[in-house]
Amino acid sequence: MDVLFKESVGDLKGVGAKRKEALQQLGIESIWDLLTYFPFRHEDLTVKDIETIEDRQKVVLQGVVIAPAHVQFYGRRKSRLSFRINVDHVIVPVTFFNQHYLEKQVNEGESLKVFGTWDAQRMQLSGIKIIGSQTANQNEKFEPIYHSSKDISHAIIKKIVKQAWDTFQQEITEVLPDYLLQRYQLMPLKEAIYNMHFPENPELMNLARETIIFTEFFVFQLRVQFRRMVHKNIGAGQAIDYDLDQLKNFFAQLPFELTNAQKEAVNAISADMKRPIQMYRLLQGDVGSGKTIVAAGAIVAAHSVAVQSAFMAPTEILAEQHFDSLQSIFEPFDIRMALLTSSTKTKERNELLAQLEKGEIDIVVGTHALIQEDVIFQHLGLIIIDEQHRFGVNQRKALREKGKHPDVLFMTATPIPRTLSMTAFGEMDVTTIDEMPPGRLPVKTYWIRKKQLPQLYKEIKKELDKNSQAYIISPLIEESDELDLENATKLAEVYSETFAPQYRVALLHGRMSAQEKEETMQQFKHHEIDLLVSTTVIEVGVDVPNATMMVIHDADRFGLAQLHQLRGRVGRGAKQSYAVLVADPKGENGVKRMQIMTSTTDGFEISQKDLEMRGPGEFFGKRQSGVPEFKVADIVEDEQPLEVARYEAAHLLLEDDFRKNPHYQVLRTLVGIEDGQINDILD
Ligand code: ADP
Ligand code: MG
Repeated sequence: MDVLFKESVGDLKGVGAKRKEALQQLGIESIWDLLTYFPFRHEDLTVKDIETIEDRQKVVLQGVVIAPAHVQFYGRRKSRLSFRINVDHVIVPVTFFNQHYLEKQVNEGESLKVFGTWDAQRMQLSGIKIIGSQTANQNEKFEPIYHSSKDISHAIIKKIVKQAWDTFQQEITEVLPDYLLQRYQLMPLKEAIYNMHFPENPELMNLARETIIFTEFFVFQLRVQFRRMVHKNIGAGQAIDYDLDQLKNFFAQLPFELTNAQKEAVNAISADMKRPIQMYRLLQGDVGSGKTIVAAGAIVAAHSVAVQSAFMAPTEILAEQHFDSLQSIFEPFDIRMALLTSSTKTKERNELLAQLEKGEIDIVVGTHALIQEDVIFQHLGLIIIDEQHRFGVNQRKALREKGKHPDVLFMTATPIPRTLSMTAFGEMDVTTIDEMPPGRLPVKTYWIRKKQLPQLYKEIKKELDKNSQAYIISPLIEESDELDLENATKLAEVYSETFAPQYRVALLHGRMSAQEKEETMQQFKHHEIDLLVSTTVIEVGVDVPNATMMVIHDADRFGLAQLHQLRGRVGRGAKQSYAVLVADPKGENGVKRMQIMTSTTDGFEISQKDLEMRGPGEFFGKRQSGVPEFKVADIVEDEQPLEVARYEAAHLLLEDDFRKNPHYQVLRTLVGIEDGQINDILD
């Protein structure tokens, strides 16, 4: 197997510098890359019976040529080759355009296989190629079609793959253990690779696909779960032996009872903290599902044994908001808090750092300002990272390194479909809060056209008359701050004309300084503003319960996840809230998104649809994805094999045999496990 990884495609006969380069462009460097460069489809070259063919279907017909072929030239460089074949006593006219050179393969009285598009009305075939020529050999039944490029054609790729197969097939060793091949009735890897390219029939093709998909998932799951295991063992994390009474007391004095989902989350987290492992857990739940109180419980637990906590959020507004809500949650307790962002004044910052180092602060909330070098803790044992996907790997690591294998709790309000969390976050334990606190009124969502705006203004006025507030989101202009600002400004003017002076209209946009934004948000929070026109700087988590209306202009420009986040800004109080999507979508997808948004408020359902519509690579946006790429497997389509692979990987990892037996060497190499040597390879 090693040879396959080491040998370069450049060593194949017929692959010179140019082709090597072209292959490289397609991501193919080693023989292994080439052998696993699978076709994206196969052309069915089996001979068809005329009766069964549908109009416009691409088929192969076989028949005897009944008269000499006729070539006609016309225009500049245009040609038409026509002839007729006898297919089971039906005379079928065949026409090729601009391939007059095929004439020499068409001989009267000889049998011919022609691949083409069937015209059912005229009972004739528009030829694409003659089978038995260069690209397709006579007895090939399913021709592999590869993604090619302008530098290398699909036919050449096919030839090179075949050559690699002929030369190196002996080197392919089995990856999956025998018991799995048998349990799931899969093909040996070597056969699977062969049949991915050159299948004899659809059954073999499917079995090959199943085998490759399972193998990809299995190797991947072993890798992430191994990392998780390593992390827990080696981390030899702190056992935070918290005071259970204090924790119970904390939850008992809350004005509400935790939902069952919250209770389960609290149990999972406190169990992690108590054990001498390093917690590495993702807490996900829709906006408003009550994650903050769960995180607060963890902070209380740490505090009960004088262990410090750090809480990091991606923006200043969010950090401040978390700070505020924690402060009110912790009011009855003797928990010393601090807020650290880049706007913290130097003097204050110095004092804060000194206190932190002396252990006089129990919980510090902040932005990435927390990871600066001079921020030193006395005993950091718990880290909470909000909206973790918005931090880079190094930022998260920098914070972790401020403690001694601290427990880490990630939080996200972006509901992540299960298949995606099993892959992108496979090395984490995932806890999902899938239940809303009781008594919440779901946000009523409407989709209107632009021409209905005058009616909308009336509805907004009704809400404002009830002493409520509203958010107005201006259209999103991709990659142009300037246009964003221009749009938002115009929109604010329109709303001012309609609503001022009776109502106070303000504008919030990305070009404002952090302080200006903060001031505006504070004013909105204190109801000194009624209508807040904003670009999407209104971030996840901003909390103004008195706001009951969310209007999103050109809503079709936003992705589903973002629309859901924006809608989550309302419906946070006791009053009925509304979201209005203003859109005249041009495309089908825009319409579909509007329909999804008006039909459900379930974040997980929406995120699943989002994943299906956009695909896993786009799910988290461009910046950071962490979603692995599979060659054949598709985490949306292939949920079941993913579950099975995950289960089997977990079991195999527990076997001593897996670590020691030479039998598993190939698998260990693929997974990236060095013999006897286990590094802390997380992040
Ligand atoms: P998240 O952080 O998940 O968006 P929060 O923790 O901010 O949600 O909770 C939203 C609101 O719901 C807060 O005002 C919080 O006090 C309240 N809340 C949380 N849990 C419950 C519960 N079990 N019952 C009633 N209200 C709750
Ligand atoms: Mg929150």
